[in-house]
Amino acid sequence: MQLWTHDRARFPLPPRHRFPLAKYSLLRRRVVELGLAAPEEIHETEPVSWTLLERVHDGELLRRIRVGELSVREQRGLGLPWSPELVERGLRSVAGTVAAAHHALTHGVAMNLGGGTHHAGRDFARGYCLFNDVVCTLAELRAGGLAQRALVVDCDVHQGDGTADLLGGDPDSFTLSLHGARNYPFQRIPSDLDVDLETGTGDADYLEALDRALDEALERSQPEIAFYLAGADPWEGDRLGRLALTKRGLRARDELVLDRLRAAGAAVCVVLAGGYAEDVRDTVDINAATAAVVAARHGGEGNRTPTSALQRPRAPVITTPPAGSQG
Ligand SMILES: [Zn+2]
Repeated sequence: MQLWTHDRARFPLPPRHRFPLAKYSLLRRRVVELGLAAPEEIHETEPVSWTLLERVHDGELLRRIRVGELSVREQRGLGLPWSPELVERGLRSVAGTVAAAHHALTHGVAMNLGGGTHHAGRDFARGYCLFNDVVCTLAELRAGGLAQRALVVDCDVHQGDGTADLLGGDPDSFTLSLHGARNYPFQRIPSDLDVDLETGTGDADYLEALDRALDEALERSQPEIAFYLAGADPWEGDRLGRLALTKRGLRARDELVLDRLRAAGAAVCVVLAGGYAEDVRDTVDINAATAAVVAARHGGEGNRTPTSALQRPRAPVITTPPAGSQG
């Protein structure tokens, strides 16, 4: 399977910063070890042009980012120290989502080993997110006449406020966000459908809520292209999440989302979004499992004829795993 990465684009971070810069290279290595992609199938992206970003983001914000003139308040909100390397990495991250989306339109599904920077809005860049890769990609697809109707399924544990800001009022897109009710961002910009989950929500309740939300989102959006933010931070061991999903539950989540979206006839572009486990290898486990779910569904045709609602896959029932089984 073809994949996209920007893992070698690193940037200076203070010691013990929570941003998991190490995860991207570890994930690239892991997907090769698992046989999900050959080394030459993992493509390093080139930075996108500023013109592409200008379709989506405020020009003055982009200027401040480009020249390093974010205010102190903006710097604090972003949570990452500005550097030319940070900006270049952001441009490469968007490029990975653009490339994966194009690939998804011809192969049904595809994945960027990065992206999902959903806290970036029209004139703000916060919560570790410089540019909104998903909305920039949608704008690019539309400009090329490749897709119009879109659905964003945001399963990062934090609400997708930047995406909601950018796509609010767009009649041809639908934003769904499932997140911890008592989590960042504390001032929300409403999605088309927000599902607030109580602290401690586990696998079964999560999957049921997701399945129900997908019913409504698919019914209302009829998407040609779907973006799936497969955040690793709903995991029970995450430092920033407040939910209690197991690794097994997260994998069931990925399967449910992919199968429902594909059955509805949408091409699916998968991006990583957040993941802040104490040990970065746990985040890599979760991201690699997502890649395995994508690989298992990759290689078919692009958009398929929607199957009957009666035939669509349902949420799997989660039972207690046998002793000794993994996570
Ligand atoms: Zn998150």
